[in-house]
Amino acid sequence: MSDYEHYEALVVGAGPGGAAAAATFANYGIETLVLERGVEAGSKNVSGGLIYAEESAPYTIDDLFPGFREAAAERPITKYRIHNIAGDKVESFDLTDLHEHDTEWSDSVLRRKMDSWLEDRVHERTRETGGGLLTGVHVNGLLREEGRIVGVTLDELDPITADIIVAADGVNSELARDAGLMDWDEPDEWFQGVKAVVDMPEDAIADRFDVAEDEGAAHLFSGDLFEGVRGGGFLYTNRDTLSLGTVFHLDSLVAEQAEPHELLDGLLTHPLLAQWLGDDYTELEYSAKLVPDSKKVALREPHFGRLLLVGDAAGQMQAQGPIIKGMNHAVTAGALAAESYAQAKSRNEPEKAGTRYARKLRSEGVMKKLRPRGYELLRGVTEDDGVTNVVDSVLTSAVGRAGVRALSGRLERLYNVPTLSALMPDTRTPYVTLPTVIAEELGTRVRDQSSVTPPDLEARIGGLTYDTDIGSPHITLRDESYEASGAAVAACPVSAVDFGGGCYREEVVRTNGSEERVVSLDTQPCVECGTCAVVADTDWSHPRGDKGVEFKWG
Ligand SMILES: Cc1cc2nc3c(=O)[nH]c(=O)nc-3n(C[C@H](O)[C@H](O)[C@H](O)COP(=O)(O)OP(=O)(O)OC[C@H]3O[C@@H](n4cnc5c(N)ncnc54)[C@H](O)[C@@H]3O)c2cc1C
Ligand code: SF4
Repeated sequence: MSDYEHYEALVVGAGPGGAAAAATFANYGIETLVLERGVEAGSKNVSGGLIYAEESAPYTIDDLFPGFREAAAERPITKYRIHNIAGDKVESFDLTDLHEHDTEWSDSVLRRKMDSWLEDRVHERTRETGGGLLTGVHVNGLLREEGRIVGVTLDELDPITADIIVAADGVNSELARDAGLMDWDEPDEWFQGVKAVVDMPEDAIADRFDVAEDEGAAHLFSGDLFEGVRGGGFLYTNRDTLSLGTVFHLDSLVAEQAEPHELLDGLLTHPLLAQWLGDDYTELEYSAKLVPDSKKVALREPHFGRLLLVGDAAGQMQAQGPIIKGMNHAVTAGALAAESYAQAKSRNEPEKAGTRYARKLRSEGVMKKLRPRGYELLRGVTEDDGVTNVVDSVLTSAVGRAGVRALSGRLERLYNVPTLSALMPDTRTPYVTLPTVIAEELGTRVRDQSSVTPPDLEARIGGLTYDTDIGSPHITLRDESYEASGAAVAACPVSAVDFGGGCYREEVVRTNGSEERVVSLDTQPCVECGTCAVVADTDWSHPRGDKGVEFKWG
């Protein structure tokens, strides 16, 4: 083999999946090097985010990192509600039972604080194995010898070889793509999440959300406030900030030509939120990221040769009805991947680490959560357009409305049934039609008025920190025609049709009396969400290590 620097284990990415893999390798005494592209772990990462410790999970974050909750999390989430909205009418359900199902605990987190705390622990523990953690390094592909994966290549350093490589490099995993394990072609396989972190003193949070110091609240929003786009909104209390955001199916966002920042503003300025946001709205950060829909993309065999994929890189992000569970599964998968290698090695069959890992994902019940069998069996019917049209017309008819009124006492209980939320079809019915009808028929009018004025896109981009990589764009357009790449003009969270700045712009080029709509791209304001890798015809990669956007909150 080549004489490149060699480690027994390489972990690419220091998010929850990478941190869990590295800690587990270290527990087995395996020499481990972690490679992270951000200036600090968390500086590239965005979550809503509530991290769950599931009772049924073989590994949770505080198993692997004692003291996590006290040092790296924000608040335990003790109240969980969903608000069905139609105009200014709202009907709210308490979903605390669903939230607490199979839950040992669940805390709100901010990714910069959480991941940088994990980084310090991972660095300490991997150093004891003879390895360590490097930040500011971008892994740009797999190193192969005689067709076999033997290591990784980097922008900043010579290639590094390893006996086992864990790709924990997130939703736009360049390693998964290089290995041919994941493509980014179908918008219906992805969600786009957009988020604002809002400043709020602890005493205001206590008053407005009626929570004590060791309590927190989660509020979810669905109905007619998002221009018919399939998805919803969230609000989570942190220690002295709020996380507010939206998560939409990417295909729906594209089909409706909706602009992510406007949908977020629709949530922020809804009168229901006035009671919480008051008249002192101060936005600290705007951010965005794609997330995979595990029901459609979670890989059943997330491995190839020496490469094991964990977390978003393996499509392991579960939308369990309204509940988003990605970080916990990344942790479990990272630990199972490392454990599988350690056990396979102890039997002198390290080449079987991948099949062992896939088997553990099944036997530990992870795959059942990520790809519920019932959903797969039913979706042919429940997601059929004709069926959806019929269901929606019945629901919105006098008969359907009478049914909703008749069920009024039981709807909250039905929303709390875990198996029903796992079967929820990916159609407008549960996201838009049903919540709208519920609010219209059962809701009460909100009397408050919103005085929130969210910053415009220019101010939001201006508030972000970038180490711009002038002259070295990390994304290039392969096809600049509007047909191929025009969807990105609206769907890119830092672009907009009527905005002269941002990443994507539409232009009309006139030549010889004919007109052509084309698209241009400026990657400087890019927040690296990954959307245009899916909706436009691009050569997509992350910026070089420590270049590009740096999130302070995440
Ligand atoms: C708006 C939003 C809301 C969400 N809400 C929740 C929630 O409430 N609860 C929940 O559990 N999940 C939530 N998620 C999903 C969750 O964030 C992900 O599922 C989770 O972060 C996946 O963890 P990971 O370790 O696989 O990847 P990531 O957390 O994305 O970490 C990947 C790491 O790899 C690094 N990296 C990437 N490429 C390279 C490279 N080429 N070289 C070197 N380093 C690289 C990145 O910088 C990053 O540090 C949400 C996501 C979004 C966008
Ligand atoms: S340019 Fe692409 S990756 Fe960057 S923010 Fe826009 S859509 Fe996201």
